[in-house]
Amino acid sequence: MVVSAMTMVAEPSVEFDAQLIRKLSQSGPRYTSYPTADRFSDTFGYRDYLQAVAGLRTRGSRNPLSLYVHIPFCENICYYCACNKIVTKNRDKAGIYLSYLKHEIEMQGKLFDGMNQIEQLHLGGGTPTYISDAQMADLMTHLQRWFRFAGDEVGEYSIEVDPRTVSAERVASLRTQGFNRLSLGVQDFDPLVQRAVNRAQPEHLTLDIIKAARAQRYRSVSIDLIYGLPGQNVISMAQTLAKVIQAGPDRISLYNYAHLPHLFKPQRRILEAQLPGAEAKLDMLALAIRRLTDAGYVYIGMDHFALPTDDLAIAQQQGRLHRNFQGYSTHAESDMVSCGVSAISAVASTYSQNVKTLDAYYDAIDKNELPIVRGLRMNMDDVLRRLIIQRLMCNFELSIASIETAYPITFASYFEAELEGLHRLEQDGLVVIDDEWISVTMKGRLLIRNICMVFDRYLQSRPAEQRYSRTI
Ligand code: SF4
Repeated sequence: MVVSAMTMVAEPSVEFDAQLIRKLSQSGPRYTSYPTADRFSDTFGYRDYLQAVAGLRTRGSRNPLSLYVHIPFCENICYYCACNKIVTKNRDKAGIYLSYLKHEIEMQGKLFDGMNQIEQLHLGGGTPTYISDAQMADLMTHLQRWFRFAGDEVGEYSIEVDPRTVSAERVASLRTQGFNRLSLGVQDFDPLVQRAVNRAQPEHLTLDIIKAARAQRYRSVSIDLIYGLPGQNVISMAQTLAKVIQAGPDRISLYNYAHLPHLFKPQRRILEAQLPGAEAKLDMLALAIRRLTDAGYVYIGMDHFALPTDDLAIAQQQGRLHRNFQGYSTHAESDMVSCGVSAISAVASTYSQNVKTLDAYYDAIDKNELPIVRGLRMNMDDVLRRLIIQRLMCNFELSIASIETAYPITFASYFEAELEGLHRLEQDGLVVIDDEWISVTMKGRLLIRNICMVFDRYLQSRPAEQRYSRTI
């Protein structure tokens, strides 16, 4: 089956080729970073991070920063969950966490003093709206005290919202506190699917929040969906998609559920017999692509769709799209400072990750140290490959001349083995290669991870099976 989907705008688009996907789908990283987080080492620590920030200062960096804040708490467990979260109904825990988080924010704020302009903020989790409205107001005031936020018309300030935890009043309050983008977790509107994953979320809750966000003039509302959940089929997916399209969010993320119960304990509660088979999943994906693009959504890449008027689609058309730990982003030049348990910062050519448990987090901050437990300092080869993977993921093409201009290499000889791998993918119709460009074809776009994996030096030493989700 081949479904060609052209949107209102001519580019970019995508072509679904089931046969090709069957042949080439494999386990692989999502490349929210390169090198990927599983390559970080505990030989990298707090002092290495301080050195990276000092390097920025020496170079007189004036790049705006991107800030990520992690709130790990959730009230209930969703069985498909693969996030780093703490499920508890004891709200006191959040109060203690926030006091430590504020201390970490203050430490980071002091460290970046004079180069602390923020153009992008994302609150993720867990469930950021687990904390109360008053706690959120206090947190935002604290962030604004230690960092200089660009105005609402420039900055992209987003928060992940679980519609089960907020009211229209809370949506209005979040807007006043400084947020201008909402990302709503939905996954599926079908009550049977919701029950199978322990996430009962009546449809009207989600629709009411979208309506409230429109009334409050949020610049963008995004919805997360998942295909491949227990009890899903093409019919239920069609119904959910119709409702989502009717609601008209600016962005839609459609994730492939990766059933990895050996890695994520909550997934052991999913009944495997209820999971749709590989062919049913492909049908659901084909249907989603057709319905979303017919409705005017642009395929951005990986799992993301956006209306042509959304900043993400505009940034892609203008070649300004970037990819970071939160997925696609419009702020290309930002260093990312991240606070909270398990959060990952990307400063200069380093990555650094915070400790994952509350106890370890509190211990480090009690010692007045940033709670960094591992990370990585990139060498030139890493930085070069990161750039190539970024360009392919965001623009679906790579100018060989631009790489040779930026780095002292001859592409054909430096990447001789990789070009051989790419030529094999060219025979399958995923890419077109000439002396100047590597261009991803319409049907290669859905398999972009396969193409990027060719440039992942670390995969050559350790294969991807078992640790990553499938590329489709
Ligand atoms: S999916 Fe989201 S809301 Fe559900 S348990 Fe995981 S982090 Fe919490």
